[in-house]
Order: sequence, then C-alpha cells, then structure tokens
Amino acid sequence: MSRYIATRAIRGSNALVMEAEVMLDRAIAEKGAETPVSFPNTAYYLPLIYAMTGQAVETLGGLRPVLEHARSLLHPIPSGKYWSPYLGETLDSGMATLLAAETIEAIRFVYGLQPEPMPGFNLAGGTSYGPNDPGGHLNGPIDDIQLRSWGIQLVDGRMPGFAAIVGAAKSNEVAVKIVRELQRRNILTFLSGNVNGRSIIHQLQEEGVELGYDTYTVPFGTDTLSAIYALGFAARSALTFGGLKAGQAREILLYNRERVFAFVLALGEVDDLKYAAAAGAINFGFPVIADTLIPEILPTGVTRYEHVVSMPFNQIEGKDDMERAEALVQKCIEVRGVKVKVANVPVPVPYGSAFEGEVVRKTDMRVEFGGKHSRCFEYLHMAPLDQVTDGKVEVVGPDFSQVPPQGSMDMGIVVKVAGRQMQEDFEPVLERQIHYFINGASGIQHIGQRDIAWIRISNAAAEKGFSLEHFGKILHARFHADFGAIVDKVQVTIYTEPALLAEWLAKARAAYDYRNKRLADLTDDKVDEFYSCTLCQSFAPNHVCVVSPERLGLCGAYNWLDCKASYNINPTGPNQPIKLGKPIDLVKGYWTGTNDYAKVGSHGQVQEVSMYSIMENPMTACGCFECIVMLIPEANGVMVVSREDTSMTPAGMTFSTLAGIAGGGLQTPGVMGVGKFYLISPKFISADGGFKRVVWMSSVLKETMAEELKAVAEREGDPDLIEKIADERHVSTVEELLAWMEEHNHPALVLDPMF
Ligand code: SF4
Ligand code: ZN
Repeated sequence: MSRYIATRAIRGSNALVMEAEVMLDRAIAEKGAETPVSFPNTAYYLPLIYAMTGQAVETLGGLRPVLEHARSLLHPIPSGKYWSPYLGETLDSGMATLLAAETIEAIRFVYGLQPEPMPGFNLAGGTSYGPNDPGGHLNGPIDDIQLRSWGIQLVDGRMPGFAAIVGAAKSNEVAVKIVRELQRRNILTFLSGNVNGRSIIHQLQEEGVELGYDTYTVPFGTDTLSAIYALGFAARSALTFGGLKAGQAREILLYNRERVFAFVLALGEVDDLKYAAAAGAINFGFPVIADTLIPEILPTGVTRYEHVVSMPFNQIEGKDDMERAEALVQKCIEVRGVKVKVANVPVPVPYGSAFEGEVVRKTDMRVEFGGKHSRCFEYLHMAPLDQVTDGKVEVVGPDFSQVPPQGSMDMGIVVKVAGRQMQEDFEPVLERQIHYFINGASGIQHIGQRDIAWIRISNAAAEKGFSLEHFGKILHARFHADFGAIVDKVQVTIYTEPALLAEWLAKARAAYDYRNKRLADLTDDKVDEFYSCTLCQSFAPNHVCVVSPERLGLCGAYNWLDCKASYNINPTGPNQPIKLGKPIDLVKGYWTGTNDYAKVGSHGQVQEVSMYSIMENPMTACGCFECIVMLIPEANGVMVVSREDTSMTPAGMTFSTLAGIAGGGLQTPGVMGVGKFYLISPKFISADGGFKRVVWMSSVLKETMAEELKAVAEREGDPDLIEKIADERHVSTVEELLAWMEEHNHPALVLDPMF
C-alpha cells in the first residue's frame, strides 16, 4: 500500500468534504433548506448517496446528514511517524469524496450550473432536460431511461463494460485514438475532468468526434467532480438489475466488483482530488490506470486485479503515439479483465457497435439507397452447402460513382448462407442482424429492414474508399463471428442492375409473405416447448423470462425464434427449451413444465408463473423492460407506460419510480414489465380480459405502433379502441382518467371486476 497515495487521497477528501460543507451552508442560506434537489429522470434520488446510505435526499437540508456521514469517514492527514499500512483509510476517504462530490453536483443543479453549459455543443443523444431544453450543454448524469436501454447490451456482452476517462490526453490525436479504440470494442465511455482547464471533451470536440448516448461516449462535464456520475450509474445498475436495495452499501459494492466491468483511465497529471476520487472508484472494485508516473497499488484485494496501475505514456513501447494509445487501452482491458469480442471487419472505416446509432445527415451524405427516392431491400436465405461459396462478394450492376452527390439509387442485398445447423426458421433471425451489422460501420446509417431498408453512406466514408462491396465484407465477417455455430458459409450479392434487382425483389417479397404467415400461425398452442432466457441473471440473479411464440422477452430483443436460434448456437447458453408437459390451466397459462422451470430458474424465488395473467403469479422482471403494465384498480383496467415516457402517470408515479417496483426479479401482482410487442399479442393478459383492459397508454407507444394497435382494435371488435385509451397528453391522475373513460365510453367500464 502506497503511503503516498493514501496521503494524497486523505488530503483530497478532507478538502472536498470541507468545500461541500461550505457550499451547502451557503446554498441553504441563499435558497432555503426546503429547496428541492434532484438529478434528471431518475427514481434513485441522488443515486450514489441513495445507494450507499439509503437516504432519499430531496432537499438541500437533506444533504446535511450526508455530509456528516462523509465527515465521519475522514482520517487525519498522515504526518511524521504516523503511518497505517491498511487500505481502509484510503477507501474511507474515497467514499467520503464520492458523497461530497455528489452533494456538490446536486447543489450545482440548484444553481443552474449543471448540466455544464458549452455553447454550440450538440449531444448525439443524451439526457433529456425537458421539452424546452435549448441544448448547448454537456450531458450531466445519465438518466434511468438510458441506463435501462443499455442494460440488455451490458448483460448480453455486446457492451463489455465501461471506462471512466478523467483528464486530457497528450494530444488531440491521442484523445481520438483512445476513444476510437474503446468504441471499437463497444466499451461505453464516460468523459470528465481536465488538466489545467483542458479536458478530453474539448479535444474530442475539436476533432469533430460525435459525443453522446448514440456513440457510447458520454461527456459528463469538464471538471473532475462530474466523474461521480459514472459511479452513480454503477450504483444504480446494482439497484435496477441486481435487485439490491438502497443502503446495502457493501452488497452494492460487491455486486459492482463481480459484475460490472469498469475502469478509470486518468489522463494527465493526477492532483489530490483525482487521488481521492480514484480511491472512491476502488471501493467499487474499479481499478485506476494512469498515463503518468504515479505509485502503483498492485496487490489484489478489493479490486479483482491491481488497484492502481501507472503506465507513463511516453514510456509505453511503441513507435508512435497511436500505438501507445492502443497499448494503453489494451492495458486497461487486461487489468480489469474485461471480456471483449471484436470481429475483424475488413472495411476502410472504423467499425464497432458504438457506431450503430450514428446518424448520417443529408448534408454529409454521399449517396443513399431506399428512403423517398429509391428502393432498397435485403434478403437472407439458406441454401445447400455446395451451393454457397464462402466469402464470395459480388456487385451486380453499376456502383455509385455515377450518382451525383446526395443522390440515390436502388439496391438489393442478398445473403446466401449454409450450415449444417441452419434451419429455415432462423432466416428472419439472421436477416434482422443485417441492420446491426451494417450500422456498425462508421459513416454508414441503416434504418428499417426487408424491402423498406434505407441505407446512407456519408461523404467521409466514401472518401475513405467505402464501396458497395464492403456491405458484403461486413456481413460475411459478422455472420461468421456471431453465428458461426449455425452458419458455415456466407455469400453476398449486391444487386443494382435493374432487371435482376426486380427479379430478386420479387423473390424476397414472396419469402417475406411466407414468413409472415408462418409467424401468424406460430401460436402458443402450436408448439410443445417454450424457451427460457436467463441472460439477465448476470445482473438480476433470480429473474427468468419465459418466452413463448406469443410472448416475447420483456426487453423486446428476444422472441421465441430468437431463443430457438440462440439455443442452437449455444446449447448450454441462456436459452433453454422448456418442455410444456401437462397443461394445468390453459386460460391463465400454467403447465407443469413452465412451473417446474420457474422454480429451478429462479432458484426457488418463484413457485409458479402464469403466462397470461398480471393478477396471479405474473412473470418477474429484471430491469430492461420496454414497458410497465400496472393495474389501476379504480379504472378496472391497466395502464401501459413506455420507458421513453418521462411524464407523470395516473398511478402518481413516473416510469422511473414504477420501475423500482416492477424490477428486481420479484413477483408483484398487478405490476409487470413487458416487451412492447407483447401488447399486440392475442395472449396479452388474456386471462384478465386482454387488450380491452388498457385504459391509459404512453402516447409514444400509440404513435410508434399506430398500425399494429389499429389491427388489435379491429381484432378486439372495437375499431375505435385506441382513441378511447387515455395518455399523458390528457390525463395524469386517476380522477381525470375516470372522467376520460366515461366520456369516451371505454369498454373496461363494463368488464368484470379485475379482482
Ligand atoms: Fe433479459 Fe428476458 Fe431479455 Fe432475456 S429475454 S435478455 S432475460 S429481459
Ligand atoms: Zn433484463
């Protein structure tokens, strides 16, 4: 244990707690103890404080006991002969620092200093500060909505972990290289801090790197304190997915050490405050890697690996700074033991899931396929092994060199796959991946699917030499990397020649129709096995999704066919067939097989699970549900809240607060997390009366699923049903809801009582 680090961390924590106390005194004097404090769109109050102390701080006055607690953790700055060889003092100091840092950030929100203004700055997706948010600021803390939507990627390994970068890199080029290396590995990156006023955020902004949720790089703020948001994110993930409760500090820290693969990368000079904050991160089991010369803490104990590693940038082996940057990132990954899968995709642009959300604006566009002015389709089908030449990519017809800038042309992408384990049912599962695979290329945007696909190539990508052939190269590499267990050979043909394109479009459409019919026929009573999904157990240890043809997983990412394919890819993986066995109650959806599985899969937490009821033994939830369905007893029906909806619901709670009730792997009658496509299934709470029970629904669902919902209304024999359902634009209390229902003659009024 380095005495040097302990001294500096203790000194830093003493100074920061003092500063927080002074700020709080002043804030209370100026604004009053009752002044509300909060972070945007979170149900976890000030999340780090809430998680670590159990205190739900809602006012400035509520911060007093927090700082008292922080002060009690402080140690005297070691001097003279005084010396203790234990890590404990450093860890205490670190925790005190985190509590003080979050206190200060909360006070900054009260003064309008957070999110940090940065004129002209545009977030590529970020925390929403309300409809009147003028922009021109950094992100500040991550909201619960984003935490949940990243959840599924964190659990299924697409996103192997997160990096909290604090400081500034040696040069702008090094800053870009570090971030690109992290993006390439799909590591979520949080940016904060500065060295002498210069932050990595400035560096990246100057180099035109897009920052925000969409690119997995979130700029918190240009000071060290904003790094606290990374730990607030980590603490919330334990509460959201791990089913842990606020105040279980030790368990939350252990959860992070075991399950959250994160590290801190300190760039540039490390001052007392950074030492103190680093000590805070070590509490979570997150190691700190510095690119300057500082004493190391190598023995493993609290972190799985080293606590503090020093890798002075100029001494890293490598011919140039780019290689050094790469080696630095490599070192971080090794130290934390982050498991990274990278497919080597031979394209002339950066490639990784971090680029999936990238938008190519019309003005940056070289050419597009599909959209308003042209047609683009994609079609994947299987063929016998001897009819597929692996790796062959053909472009049939002209390339886009003759298309004027910002022009468009027709294109069809036909993928032929073969494999001993391949089945026709997997065709749509694989075809849907084309969207993700193509989007992974920087400068390429892919929207839609089937014959409404829409692809844009940016000027930057075209200048780097990205051509039509590269679509094929990407698909070949990724299908092998991700689906190697079922796909042995992949051949891709890109059609732009009009006659052949038309011919293949017709074939593709025939296949889409065929699959639609197959899907419509694929009902729960036509199969004798459902599938389990335990993917989320890496985060929510007792949660199981039971996935049936008519009920997809609550994250919306896995339907029955996906699970079946996944089982074939990985027979010992998270998706196992559940033999239905004997039916017990087909209305509520009980079988001997599903009940038996529920007991085993939940490690005894759940005894029985009903597939079609929200009132009796409903399915549990982890934290990644797309929607929450909740009983409104007065209305004799349920409301459906989308995770994108931040408004108040008639239950008197926002989505974030409701999510705390719905998640954590427990059965709560009357509350259920679901995937949004379950809403349109004939089996949607069919034991409780089905879709007619929906009395309130977030407008975003009504808008984004308008067509599907219309079809449901027809099916239910009430074509105007959707208009009878209230939403947050008209109704936010139970009284308003009841009035609305009367006025619109909602069918739930005359259904049997729900309980
Ligand atoms: Fe998690 Fe359920 Fe989605 Fe599987 S289906 S990833 S368990 S939410
Ligand atoms: Zn989940």
